[in-house]
Amino acid sequence: MVLPIKIIGEPILKTPCEKVEDVDGKVVKFAGDLVETMYAHKGIGLAAPQVGKKLQIISVDTVYLELGSKPQVLINPQVVYAEGEVTMEEGCLSIPGLYWDVVRPEKIVVKALELLPNGKLREVEIEADGLYARVLLHEIDHLHGVLFVDRLPAREKTIALAKWRRMRRASAS
Ligand code: ZN
Repeated sequence: MVLPIKIIGEPILKTPCEKVEDVDGKVVKFAGDLVETMYAHKGIGLAAPQVGKKLQIISVDTVYLELGSKPQVLINPQVVYAEGEVTMEEGCLSIPGLYWDVVRPEKIVVKALELLPNGKLREVEIEADGLYARVLLHEIDHLHGVLFVDRLPAREKTIALAKWRRMRRASAS
């Protein structure tokens, strides 16, 4: 099922998500919906709060990233190591149409529980750089109520959000 995307301004996007304690049928079903929604909206990644669920679950389009043949679902992902610094342009389905340069770590290690396409779970420690690291950092931020504009220096954030509001008004009229 394709779920509606929450847009910046909705409180759930600012709310830290809860850890998943038990990966039951409901969680598995939700993970499927999350992936379906990510594809329907052409995102490279999607986080549960973006579709109104306060749980620590993200999906990443590892097919697009040429890292696998199936999209990846990570439960309770945690950044356990980060090094370097790199600037990359980011966008977000919750701030549609806005793209902005964001500085983030270059290489990371993420620990998570991966929900495999066959429904099995495995503990993973993912080393990532490039676009993969970028997507993971962006999506994990969502689980803590942080949007990419929150990573910008205060003045730049104000400019970016003003630009986005102007664009929204223009497209609404
Ligand atoms: Zn996002």
